[in-house]
Amino acid sequence: MKIGIVGCAGRMGRMLMAETVATAGCELVGGTERAGGDFVGHDLGVLAGLEPLGITATDDPAALFDAADVVIDFTVAATAQGHADLAGRYGTALILGTTGLDTAAQEAVEQASRRAAIVQAANFSLGVNLLLGLTERVAGILGDDYDIEIVEMHHRHKVDAPSGTALALGRAAAAGRGVDLDAVSDRVRDGHTGARRKGDIGFATLRGGDVVGDHTVLFAADGERIELTHKATSRAVFVKGAVRSAVWSSWQPPGLYSLRDVLGLS
Ligand code: NAD
Repeated sequence: MKIGIVGCAGRMGRMLMAETVATAGCELVGGTERAGGDFVGHDLGVLAGLEPLGITATDDPAALFDAADVVIDFTVAATAQGHADLAGRYGTALILGTTGLDTAAQEAVEQASRRAAIVQAANFSLGVNLLLGLTERVAGILGDDYDIEIVEMHHRHKVDAPSGTALALGRAAAAGRGVDLDAVSDRVRDGHTGARRKGDIGFATLRGGDVVGDHTVLFAADGERIELTHKATSRAVFVKGAVRSAVWSSWQPPGLYSLRDVLGLS
C-alpha cells in the first residue's frame, strides 16, 4: 500500500514515516511540508531518522494525493480542509489526526467522505478509545448528581485548547446523558462565574513541559468522586494507531470512520 505523509517534518510526521517504512506491505511514496518552510527538499529518510530514501519533501499535496493510496495528516487545522478536498477529488483514503478543525473544515471532511474513506480521530491510542466508551457508559449510569469535569494537560507547544481528545470525551459524556455537549459545555471560567450549573460539563486545560497527553474525566458528587484517567507517555501509541488505520482504510468504501470502527469497538 502506498502511503503519503503530509506535515512530514512535524513531531508526528517524522515518526509516521519511520513506522510506515517499518510496516510490512506499506510503502512510503512521499511527504509534504508547508510551502516556503525549511524542510521542503529534505530527504524523507533523514527526516525520519533513517538512512536516506532518495525521496524528498515537496510542497505539492495534490501530486501526493494522486500518487498515494492513503495519506496521513497530522498537520495544522488551517490546512486540513484543503487536504480533505484533495482526498475527495482523488478518492484517496485519508487518516486525519489534526485537531482544532473549525466548522467549515469539518464540513469539508464530511463532504470528502462521500468519495473517500476517511478515518478521523482526535486520539489514535487504543487506551483513549476505551476511555471514550467507559466515559459514555459511566455518565449514563450516574446521572447529573455527579458533576462532570474534564481535565487535560499537554506539552507547551500545543496550539489548540481544550484538546480534541478532551472535547471527544465531553461528547461521549454528553451522549451518555442524552444531552448535546454544546448546550452544557463550560469551557472557560474566569472571575465571578457564579455557582456551577447542574448538568454542565466543565473543561480545564493545563499546558507545560513535554507532556504527551494526560486526560482525566471526573464525576464528582456529595461524598465521593470517580476519576477515569489516561496518560500517554509516548507518541508511538498514536503513530501505531494511525498506520493501523491506514492499512484498514484501504479496503473500506467511502465514509467517515472513527478509530472505534478500526478497532471493531463500535
Ligand atoms: P508539529 O507542529 O510538530 O507538526 C505539524 C507539521 O505540519 C509541521 O512540520 C508543519 O510545518 C507542518 N505543516 C503546516 N502546514 C502545512 C501544510 N500546509 N502542508 C504540509 N505540512 C504543513 O505538530 P504535531 O505535534 O506533530 O501535531 C500535529 C497535529 O496532530 C496537531 O493538530 C495535534 O493536535 C495533532 N495530534 C493528534 C493526535 C491524535 O492522536 N489524533 C496525536 C498527536 C497530535
